[in-house]
Amino acid sequence: VCDEETLGLIAVSGVNRSLEDAKAVARFLAQMAGQALRNAQALSQMKNTADVDGLTGILNKRHLTEVLAERVFDAQRELTPLSVFLFDLDNFKHYNDSHGHMAGDQLLRELTRLVSENIRKNDIFGRFGGEEFLLVLPKTPLPHALAVAEKIRGTIAAHPFSFADKQPLGFLSVSGGVAECPRDGLDSTRLMAAADQALYRAKHEGRNRVLPAERFDLSEGEVVVLNNPGGRK
Ligand code: GH3
Ligand code: MG
Ligand code: MG
Repeated sequence: VCDEETLGLIAVSGVNRSLEDAKAVARFLAQMAGQALRNAQALSQMKNTADVDGLTGILNKRHLTEVLAERVFDAQRELTPLSVFLFDLDNFKHYNDSHGHMAGDQLLRELTRLVSENIRKNDIFGRFGGEEFLLVLPKTPLPHALAVAEKIRGTIAAHPFSFADKQPLGFLSVSGGVAECPRDGLDSTRLMAAADQALYRAKHEGRNRVLPAERFDLSEGEVVVLNNPGGRK
């Protein structure tokens, strides 16, 4: 018992000292264990709070970044492809401005629930920024990841969110970029940069679409001269 709350039970059998001695020892051990359990619970609760986004209850950027780096490492060790799908709500400022920040918050929660219901249990989903989300797809090559991303885009476009019909396209849309490790980046930073660049192109090409990364595997400062027969620098 800790702070008047029962945390667990310890069963003791085969006592071969006096019963009172045994009870005292058990009481002492239970007290220590109770305190340790309570500390462990508090620690795990603190860790959970630090990992989770307050509004939507999914992983926050800090934890996503950590998990992504671990999964990229696993993928390389196991020689399996891993893909990321980075997506951003289109014209969300318009939504907030038209229907209020609270309605915007509600929309972010509903979108989170909808996407969470439509992914596999090994996929990792989190909120990467304000209205930007990241889905990490372990053991998934680019073509398969593009199909998953396209399905999510379509599911969101078809969902009857409140005021969706008042959006500029007449429904609620997202734009996204998909990148694969090792194809588009060997580490999580480059992979995310490749996905981000594809997302940027999707916005520029008219929104409500998902695009694959363009090959993006040069280190900063590296220059590759293509098609330069005259040798001109
Ligand atoms: P684009 O199609 O180019 O992505 O346009 P956009 O309007 O979605 O993008 P912009 O970056 O102009 O605006 C994003 C808006 O998202 C502005 C910001 O207030 C809103 N936002 C970010 N986080 C939250 C949040 O937690 N709740 C609400 N309600 N709004 C948020
Ligand atoms: Mg946006
Ligand atoms: Mg954004």
